[in-house]
Amino acid sequence: MNVKNHKEALKEDIFSIISGAAAELDMDSYVIGGFVRDYLLNRDIPKDIDIVAIGSGIELARKVSEKLQKKPKVQVFKNFGTAMLRWKDLEVEFVGARKESYRSDSRKPVVENGTLKDDQDRRDFTINALAFSLQKENFGDLLDPFDGVGDLKQKLIRTPLDPDITYSDDPLRMLRAIRFASQLHFKIFPESLEAISRNKDRIKIISKERVVDELNKILGSDKPSTGLSLLFRTGLLHIILPELTRLQGIEEKEGQKHKDNFWHTLEVVDNISEHTDDLWLRWAALLHDIGKAPTKRFDKKVGWTFHGHEFVGSKMVYKLFKRLRMPLNEKMKFVQKMVLMSSRPIVLAQDIVTDSAVRRLVFDAGDHVDDLMTLCEADITTKNPKKFRKYHHNFKIVRQKIVEVEERDHIRNFQPPVSGEDIMKTFNLSPSREIGIIKDAIKEAILEGDIPNEYEAARDFMLKKGKELGLEPGKG
Ligand code: ATP
Ligand code: MG
Repeated sequence: MNVKNHKEALKEDIFSIISGAAAELDMDSYVIGGFVRDYLLNRDIPKDIDIVAIGSGIELARKVSEKLQKKPKVQVFKNFGTAMLRWKDLEVEFVGARKESYRSDSRKPVVENGTLKDDQDRRDFTINALAFSLQKENFGDLLDPFDGVGDLKQKLIRTPLDPDITYSDDPLRMLRAIRFASQLHFKIFPESLEAISRNKDRIKIISKERVVDELNKILGSDKPSTGLSLLFRTGLLHIILPELTRLQGIEEKEGQKHKDNFWHTLEVVDNISEHTDDLWLRWAALLHDIGKAPTKRFDKKVGWTFHGHEFVGSKMVYKLFKRLRMPLNEKMKFVQKMVLMSSRPIVLAQDIVTDSAVRRLVFDAGDHVDDLMTLCEADITTKNPKKFRKYHHNFKIVRQKIVEVEERDHIRNFQPPVSGEDIMKTFNLSPSREIGIIKDAIKEAILEGDIPNEYEAARDFMLKKGKELGLEPGKG
């Protein structure tokens, strides 16, 4: 057992306070899991700290609270036998060491009190089973029964026990393995990866919320394709996001092929992740082509088509979010809008960019126009360097034009310069169809660039349009 000392990791006074409290209760205690792992990896030290007590975690938490200034509130989770308190910006969770055995039909283990080693056995990975001692006599010693340090050095995700047992006991661990591989740039130990493929179907017993938590963390990593391709290779993705795996594959008919839209999508997600940390924009990148599977057709004249895939895709977003119990709020609507509009700027970038096309884009995308541009730039995955440069160059022009047009015409969050009420008053009308026609004509004229987005011009235009409709300005 590695007993290298890491006192410097435990400089925060909370650790010596926990140590003292445990001593008073005649209990041993350890820092375990993510804190130790991330400290040894020189990552940002996590704000959540896990303490394992050889005894009651709840009792230890209460004792620690008594010793702290202001005696922070202890939140007890009786069902889990754990307790949590907040101290400064830290969230400290206490749990009694446990020994667990599982039955095959449920994630709910039979739990008994155990030793530190028992508790380490039930941890998910060797790198997450590392513990620092908080005892006075060996404060800061590293307890590492499975050579987690060796795996940290080799960048390996490996289970402490037989992986078939670890994954079958709690299938969420399969997603955690892939998530850590993606976050930490680690490899999953080959036997472990095989065990994930074998046990993949057990993921179905995990709650959607927890699955989505892990998916979000994968999408939040620097290069999400690492995790996403592992999900694909193990077969987990086929269960969790079948809409995506249906995009995989290249079909050929009469010598015509389409691209593999699954691997293209992963490239787009990686591209966008270099430019944004926004989780929902990354989701939009992940889902931007899902409508292509159900809309794929082959036509002898034009080859492969995906007509209306943006619209179909945006409808699928709702169903997918609902199935995964994701929020059906403005975030979902944002993703839908991005999917729906995902081809709009591309058309612009292929041709000469006109002001009116840019005004229409800004009008339709509103505040999300920059996000939409970011998505479309990420969507450029052509391997033809000439095309690649051309598209990026054109998008640069589109972005410039967006700024210019916006400064001049204020199309974003468009408010008509002449209101419906103005129109009613001018022509002495009661609410009627004509008002809508005139309002729409004004909006169109502005977007086309026939008139500037200003009151005077819009009023003149309104009078002209009214005349065409046989209306006359009222007297009163
Ligand atoms: P992060 O906080 O970045 O998600 P973490 O490793 O700290 O990483 P937590 O979910 O905070 O993950 O869990 C803390 C510790 O609890 C882990 O390091 C691991 O030892 C253990 N653990 C968490 N979930 C499981 C699980 N499903 N099976 C076994 N052990 C787990
Ligand atoms: Mg943690």
